[in-house]
Amino acid sequence: MKEEEIRPRSVFEEYLRLAAVDAGIYFGNSERLAVPCPACGTQGSLAFDKHGFSYEECPACQTLFVSPRPPAEDFFRYYQESASARYFATTFYRQTAEARREKLWRPKAAMVHDVLKRHGVDGNNLIDVGGGYGIFAEEYQRLSGVSVTVIEPGPELAQVCRDKGLNVVESFLENVRAEQLPAGPKVFVSFELFEHLHDCGVFLQHLSSLMQPGDMFLFTTLSGMGVDIQALWNDSNSISLQHLNFFNPKSVKLLIERVGLSVLKVETPGKLDIDILVNNAGLIKDRFWRNFVAQASMEERQEWQTFVASHGLSSHMFVVCECPAK
Ligand SMILES: [Zn+2]
Repeated sequence: MKEEEIRPRSVFEEYLRLAAVDAGIYFGNSERLAVPCPACGTQGSLAFDKHGFSYEECPACQTLFVSPRPPAEDFFRYYQESASARYFATTFYRQTAEARREKLWRPKAAMVHDVLKRHGVDGNNLIDVGGGYGIFAEEYQRLSGVSVTVIEPGPELAQVCRDKGLNVVESFLENVRAEQLPAGPKVFVSFELFEHLHDCGVFLQHLSSLMQPGDMFLFTTLSGMGVDIQALWNDSNSISLQHLNFFNPKSVKLLIERVGLSVLKVETPGKLDIDILVNNAGLIKDRFWRNFVAQASMEERQEWQTFVASHGLSSHMFVVCECPAK
């Protein structure tokens, strides 16, 4: 897979340009509150500033995170009103929807289905938190025959999901009550959501209160220890204003276990790190990767991508958790 296939350069660059402008409009004058490492609670130290935000790195677990951060309400307003959020949800999404269905969502549905089958819970109700356009839900239903419930706070997106015949709870997860969800054993999933969360602790506490022993939670998020993010650092396009938390395979375990869930597996099945480095060769900070990209053949790039992914060093992270007996 190539980055261009799911993030065409021209469309993505326009989004990043709008996002940089919105950072000033929506957060230029907002109050800021210092936060400790969202994974382990240690005080971070400044890594860099970008678009008016400071990013700190935790000296204990290497989580990269925005601190001080503006209040949650400023982010709600940004997501509801801003040009870049609208561009991402409409133009960007529409132009890439079918490529993403095929390249991202279908394989993701297969990956989730495999894991659940191995645990013998593939018949359980599946709940997609932040289900967006419902493409994962459609693909998962088609593959498994299990009906999927989507939790989606955005009114337009919730309507898109209802029009597809999906069960929808139009809400933020943090406000969902147990009786709004189907009865019986459950599997919760969320994709590319954790990097956006203003308070991961609040999200996870509430999620865990909705789970019964044996229920599972599977999610993907960005790992800040991923090769492309480490090598491009402040110039990484993943470091943009919607992304507040970059956990890594070790720190995400600390985060999850703090709320009493068990982590069964953390993997980084990413496919794009090396391709992203190739596409941003002039911005690579690290000498090794700069010269690697200058010389490596297509086969060598592919071999390294496989190596990076299998050693937990891709920026695309997949976490499997379970609610233990209480
Ligand atoms: Zn930490």
